This record gives sequence, C-alpha cells and structure tokens, in this order.
Amino acid sequence: MNTPPPVLESPEAVLTTLGRDGKRRWMYPTPSKGSKYRARQVLGWALIAFFVGLPWVKIGGRPAILLDIAAREFTFFGLTLHPTDTLLLMVFLLTVLLSVFFVTALFGRVWCGWGCPQTVYLEFVYRPIERLIEGKEGARRKLDQGPWTREKMIRKGLKYGVFLLISLFLAHTFVAYFVGWERLLEWMGKSPAEAPGYFVMMILTTALVYFDFGFFREQMCTITCPYARFQSVLMDRNSLIVSYDPNRGEPRGTARARKQAGPLNLEDGTVSFGDCVDCGACVRTCPTGIDIREGLQMECVACTQCIDACNEIMDAVDKPRGLIRFTSENALDQKPTRVARPRVLAYGVILVLLSATFVGLVINRGPLEVDLARASGTTYQITNDGDVANRLRFRLRNRTAEEVHAEVRVVSPEAASVQVVGQHPILLPAGDPVRIEVWITMPPEEMPSGGMPLTLELVVDGEVWATPSIGLMGPQ
Ligand code: SF4
Ligand code: SF4
Repeated sequence: MNTPPPVLESPEAVLTTLGRDGKRRWMYPTPSKGSKYRARQVLGWALIAFFVGLPWVKIGGRPAILLDIAAREFTFFGLTLHPTDTLLLMVFLLTVLLSVFFVTALFGRVWCGWGCPQTVYLEFVYRPIERLIEGKEGARRKLDQGPWTREKMIRKGLKYGVFLLISLFLAHTFVAYFVGWERLLEWMGKSPAEAPGYFVMMILTTALVYFDFGFFREQMCTITCPYARFQSVLMDRNSLIVSYDPNRGEPRGTARARKQAGPLNLEDGTVSFGDCVDCGACVRTCPTGIDIREGLQMECVACTQCIDACNEIMDAVDKPRGLIRFTSENALDQKPTRVARPRVLAYGVILVLLSATFVGLVINRGPLEVDLARASGTTYQITNDGDVANRLRFRLRNRTAEEVHAEVRVVSPEAASVQVVGQHPILLPAGDPVRIEVWITMPPEEMPSGGMPLTLELVVDGEVWATPSIGLMGPQ
C-alpha cells in the first residue's frame, strides 16, 4: 500500500493567515462594536460616499477627478495636468509621498485601519453582508467546515452573488475615474461586439475586486501591500501604535487561574496577576489574526478593534480601560513621547516646501501651454520685397475647460510683423494640443548683425494669456 507523502510543516508560525503546512487560515474576526468601531464606521461610510460620488461631480465642466490615460490628461479638482507638466506632476507625487511619511511617523498605520479602501470596504460592506447571510463567526466556521448541504449551497450562492453585484458596481465606479461616467454609460448601452474593450476591462476589474474582497482579503495587507513592508522604517519609538501594556497586563491569568491561586499574597510576591484576564477577545476580533500582546507586528493594521474588545472586558472586570491603547513604545517604557523630533521636523519642513512649490507652480501656470520653436531645419529667408522672414512653429494647449480663439501679436521689435498660417484668430479647443506655423517678417535695416530677440503675445478676448520669446535669424 502506498503511504501518502508526509506533510511538510514549518517549525514555527510564519504568518497568522497561513497554517504551518502553508495552507490559508480563514479569518473569522468577531466585530467589537465600541466607540472606535463606531467612529471608523462613520468615517468609512463617509469615504465610500466620497469615492462613489466623486466621479459624478464636475468642476468647470470637467469631472472633479479624471485620470484619462488614453488622452494623457489628469484632472484634479479643476486642475488638468498633461505630460508636459512633468515638474508639477513630480512635485505633486512627492508631496503625497512625504505626507505618507509624515503621517506614519506621527500616527503609525492609522491610514491602514481607518482610511484605506481595502479595510473600509472589507469591514463595512463585505463582512457585514457575510454576517447577514451566513451568521456569526461560530456559525460561519461551522458552515465552512461542514458538508455541502442544500442550505450551505443556498447561503454561499447568495453571498457570492451579492458580492459579485457589489464588485461590479465598485469596478464601474473605479473605471469611471479613468474614463468618466458619460463614456462609461455610453459603453454600457452597447453590445460586447460594439465595445469589446469596455467588456474586457470591466470583466478584469470586477474579477480583481471580487477576488480581493471575496477571497484574498487581509492577505492584501499582510502579503501584497508595499506600505506594510516599509512602514517600520518610517516609524520610531515615539510614533503612535496600537499596543498592549505588558507592565499593566502581565502576568496574565484567566479567572480560573486566579481562583486557583487563591487570595493574593503581595508580601512575599508569590502570586500577583496583571490586568489581562487572558480571555482572548483581542485575538478573536483581530482581522489579521494576530495577538497584539506579543508586541508590535507587521500584520497590525491599527484598526483598533482589539482596543474596543479589551475595553469591554476591562469594564466587565471593573478595571480601568486602556490595557490595549493607542500609545508609543516610549510611553510604554514610562519615557516621554516626543512629537517634535528630527525625523518629524525634517518630513514637515520638506512637506511645507513641496506644498509651497506646488501651489506656486499652479498659480503661475497660466491658462495656456505654449511651446514656440523655429520650424525644423530652417534659418531665415529673404522675401520678394526684400524682407527677412523667419518661420516659427507653435504648439499650444488651452488648459481651460472652454474653447477659445487666440490672436498672435508682436510685442517687440515693433518693426516685425506676424502672419499666421491658416485660421486667425486660432481656434483652441479645451485641452487638445494645436500646432500652427507663423511667419515673422522684418525689414532688413531693422535687423542688426544677424539676429535679434522677438517677443510675441497670445491674446484671448483682449487678455494677454502668454508672452513667449525666441531669437530671430537674419543676414550678417
Ligand atoms: S492587533 Fe488590534 S489594531 Fe492590530 S490589526 Fe489586530 S485588532 Fe487591529
Ligand atoms: S482582550 Fe484584554 S484582557 Fe482579554 S486577552 Fe486581550 S489584552 Fe487580555
């Protein structure tokens, strides 16, 4: 008889979400509905409303946020960036990155537990639906471990059916940030043959959302997310973390252990229990399955569920709340917590500088993007009238939401005259680049020693939108 191969097991637990044989350990966290849970719930629903509603909001005729990759246009609350706005885009991304550094140094992983869509949707949309359909944690565990009965098939089918519908809606909302709702609604009214790109994109996005919230869940935080990996280098002993106070809690002991130990004998120190009654409520409520009493761990997403759970137990055993609390490692060691420290100050100063640079760049950006150059491969020509003519090329982009007409005029030298090739005033549609050519002619007697600077102006409705300059060429 063939003996089955031995199951390889790790000598110690590597991840709480994996068994020692490497198989997935499904989490059944018990919600702890304390004050922090309620605050997260309010914030979570506000964020969901914001995420779902934002693509419908328009500012200046454009969606509040539109990341149009195909058109290479990125709109944020009335500010539209193009690939030529590299500096602005770079400063913006650096500002976002520094904000993450700054917030993490001060408040640890508060983003993960309170603001990240992964946590918000999982804890306040998918898990409540799961509880509603399959019951509480014990019932769900039993259902999962039990045979495939008719009831199990109905409950599982219903749950995953609802998950699929929600994932479809979230995927459409997500894609609306990239294409806008108008285009999305238009595609939705077409058949897959007419809009194959839309159908492929929606199937893939829905499948990813469905897989993430239906199956992958907390593994996104513990295995995949890069922020979890580098957060430890952003924090120090003064950063706020969710932590168990071992000075107060240890040695832990269950009610039975305390009863068996008999009355406390503090005189000779033989029996002395801390406040932790070893009830395990903090572990049962943890969505990543860790025991916070073992110290700060990479898997902790600072959701504060264990704080609520432990506070409830402390109330029940008539002890002060806060055995698990938001605190710093220094505070736990009875040392002062310093808010203003070199790393926070450095992040803060750089953040202020970057924000000021960003605001300065936006203010001085102007409504028109202008690129003026000499027509490629040209120097100058002499016209039949004997004037010196330079051929220049404009690349213009109207950054506003309205179509406008722009006139090109000469500012200096006064003797120069401009002639636009094609329609003048130039039609500039909102957002799209326009290329035009202009001829600048100068009487030769006004052109000293081979060349001189030229300044033009682009005028829209009597208002000067840009004053580009370039060097004119002429005979020596
Ligand atoms: S240890 Fe506490 S704060 Fe951290 S993930 Fe678990 S329940 Fe949330
Ligand atoms: S919930 Fe509080 S009392 Fe219960 S095991 Fe956790 S730390 Fe100890």
